[in-house]
Amino acid sequence: MIWIHWFRRDLRLHDNPALHTASIRSDGRVIPLFILDDAILHAPRTGAARIAFMIAALRDLDANLRARGSRLVIRRGRTLDVIRAMVQETGATGVAWNRDYTPFARRRDAQVEAALRDLNVETSIAEDAVVFSPDDVRTGDGRPYTVYTPYRRRWRALTEQRRAEVLRAIEPPLLRPAPEAVADQTVPDHADLGIVVSQRIPPGGETHGAARLAAFVDLAAAHSIAGYAEGRDLLAEPATSRLSPYLRFGCVAPRQALRAALRLLDIVGDDHRTVRSIETWIGELAWRDFYYQILWHYPHVVRRSFKPQYDALAWENDPALFDAWKEGRTGYPIIDAAMHQLRQEAWMHNRARMIVASFLTKDLLIDWRWGERYFMQQLVDGDHAANNGGWQWSAGTGTDAQPYFRIFNPVSQGQKFDPKGLYVRRYLPELAQVPDRYIHAPWTMPRAEQQRCGVVIGRDYPAPIVDHAERRMRALALYRAVSSVA
Ligand code: FAD
Repeated sequence: MIWIHWFRRDLRLHDNPALHTASIRSDGRVIPLFILDDAILHAPRTGAARIAFMIAALRDLDANLRARGSRLVIRRGRTLDVIRAMVQETGATGVAWNRDYTPFARRRDAQVEAALRDLNVETSIAEDAVVFSPDDVRTGDGRPYTVYTPYRRRWRALTEQRRAEVLRAIEPPLLRPAPEAVADQTVPDHADLGIVVSQRIPPGGETHGAARLAAFVDLAAAHSIAGYAEGRDLLAEPATSRLSPYLRFGCVAPRQALRAALRLLDIVGDDHRTVRSIETWIGELAWRDFYYQILWHYPHVVRRSFKPQYDALAWENDPALFDAWKEGRTGYPIIDAAMHQLRQEAWMHNRARMIVASFLTKDLLIDWRWGERYFMQQLVDGDHAANNGGWQWSAGTGTDAQPYFRIFNPVSQGQKFDPKGLYVRRYLPELAQVPDRYIHAPWTMPRAEQQRCGVVIGRDYPAPIVDHAERRMRALALYRAVSSVA
């Protein structure tokens, strides 16, 4: 008996529940399949950095499979056609995959399931991209949570109740070579797919993901999880795990990340600083699950506001302001530095994501969907659930939103989270000589100081494209107009 394991966003061999099932059911006769579907490769929200990272992850997966006597089977085409053809070519009796929670994937997977049922082929679907499936974490009366804090409390209690299950690792399966009849194709290069990447992206794959997780939970390392609670909001510090692209493609499973953190908690005893840091980080894994369950239970968030009254917001949507934001020339250094980080690294610090998202929606009065889409096109970790959740949170249209009247001030955010301007200077070297006291508001420098440090506003660096105080009042009025409708 042959089973197909359909890899999607679970690009790893360790701790892969669907792959494990496929291997048990077929006694190791698994065809490890990945489908390059043009509908996805060329979708408007797909970004070059993400495809390049994914291709690297596929190469790593192929190498790891070959080390175990198997290999990755890559096919290009429409998903349904490829799966049908592969079943017919190989005589497979079952297909296994790990669930994807986006509305698009749900529709596609339902079609594949129906087609396989017609062919009398078994299917096995596992939960993997989240720690707990969206239906596992519910309120006392069985409803999904729509507010993060009580969700996290329930989620964290569940990690203790199911501790044995979370701590149990699944070893990579024993695999037999794929049948000779299956045409051998190598993983294409991203350039073969017409993908051009200009950003510096991290190396993709399970091997690198596992190493990154191991380094982050190594308390002897210079930048480990121990300093997370204190350092995670400081923009210039390498204080966060940088695991997001690996989690996005399943090179690291969220369960593996949680397991590493729980094991560490057992070791550190009552070292309060480290315990607080580990718990804070575990809370971020809960945020991730939280947004997945929002997308699952409320799929309308993909196109509309979670809170419907905000669909009536009268956005100004000025394309010139949008271009200035994208290109990092708003005249607010913290915004421009963050947007340059995105352009250079296809990644942005979480605090910076919140600041630029607030600025786009509340200072520039541009629809959060414009920013959400741009982020998806740029981010190496672009993830529909987390990105949508982050944007709606920042715009004040989503779950558990910061109240709309709490509007980030780009100058004071910079002063607080980049006090010496190190982050700003890293991404805006033209501001290198600006004194610390002016680094987040260079337009306030006296003319003589501008001349002295070689940054004349309007010549070497733009003047602010909007006046924050004035735009703040305008945003408040727009939001107030629709809030009272609710
Ligand atoms: P760490 O701080 O080390 O956190 C560990 C992991 O927890 C992250 O890798 C991520 O998987 C998860 N996580 C952390 N914070 C959040 C959060 N607020 N929401 C959901 N999951 C979280 N994250 C993405 O993975 N993809 C996105 O497309 C994305 N878009 C965002 C857009 C906006 C406007 C905002 C405000 C946040 C967005 N985030 C997104 C969340 C967060 O910014 C990133 O997960 C984080 O910066 C990744 O860095 P890290 O791996 O070092 O995170």
